[in-house]
Amino acid sequence: MFEGLRLVSEAADFAARRHTGQQRKGRGNEPYVNHLAEVANLLSISTDGTDAELVAAGWLHDTIEDTATTREELAQTFGERVAALVVEVTDDMTLPKAERRQKQIVDAPRKSPGAKLIKIADKISNIRARIMPQANQDERDDLIDYLAWAEKVVDGCRGVNAMLDRMFDETVRAARSTL
Ligand code: ZN
Repeated sequence: MFEGLRLVSEAADFAARRHTGQQRKGRGNEPYVNHLAEVANLLSISTDGTDAELVAAGWLHDTIEDTATTREELAQTFGERVAALVVEVTDDMTLPKAERRQKQIVDAPRKSPGAKLIKIADKISNIRARIMPQANQDERDDLIDYLAWAEKVVDGCRGVNAMLDRMFDETVRAARSTL
């Protein structure tokens, strides 16, 4: 248990430093670290705090994609499983956006159980950030588009954790009610 605490704490510190200065898309230009904290917390809640490596991977899930971080570095600091989980949820940024989105839908069912949970938590957090009661038409269109895509990705990730599946459905319902 103490080892798990150290791992998660180290991952939070590492991720916060690497994402310094980045802002997330959506509501209020929140610092990017808010997104990472939300994803890690969703993973911790839905697994009742039993999987420290998964929560650490939640903190780190965007480091390879969005910062100068390598798989080797993660493996050395956080171990093989954490590194493998982050790689599994990393998009190939050399592909155009439409292809990356399509690839996420196709690849989702073949991901490991842990990677599926990170995917769902990531989508919950991204939808929540796009829920804006005072949204303009562009923001509403972006949300409609994002929901349709996220539901297809999550369809391939369901069945690992009932609580997270339910939280995703509730988040989608709440988002639709603002449209
Ligand atoms: Zn993310």
